[in-house]
Amino acid sequence: METEAEKDQAFSSTSLLSAGGVLVAWESGAFIVVPATPQINANPPRAVGDGVMLFIAVHELIHACGLSNGDHNPDDLFSGFPQARAGNKRQDDKLEVNQQKRLPPLFLTTKTAGVIQALWK
Ligand SMILES: [Zn+2]
Repeated sequence: METEAEKDQAFSSTSLLSAGGVLVAWESGAFIVVPATPQINANPPRAVGDGVMLFIAVHELIHACGLSNGDHNPDDLFSGFPQARAGNKRQDDKLEVNQQKRLPPLFLTTKTAGVIQALWK
C-alpha cells in the first residue's frame, strides 16, 4: 500500500527530458509545463521539429492520465530517457527509444496502454 507521502512524491513532479516537459500535479490540480521552443543538438543547435514537440506533449498528457516516472517504458513514447536525433530538416527530427525505434510516428506498447487502461476502468 502506497503512503500519502509516496503518492505525493510520485505525483509532485515528473520530467521527460532535459529539453522536455514536466508535469506538476497535486491533490487539486496539475500543470503541464513544456518549453516554448525545445532545442535539439543539431549543428548549430535549433528548435526541434513538430514531431518531437508532439512526442513531448503526448508524453506529458500520459503523465496527466496518472502515470508516474515509475511507469516509464523504454520501448515506446512513454520512455523516460528518449534520445534526440536531429534530422537534416526540422520535420525529420526524431526521438529514439530502446536504442533503435525512432518516433514519430508515435506509438505505445500494450504494456503502457495497459497501465493507462487499468487506471481508467
Ligand atoms: Zn515522463
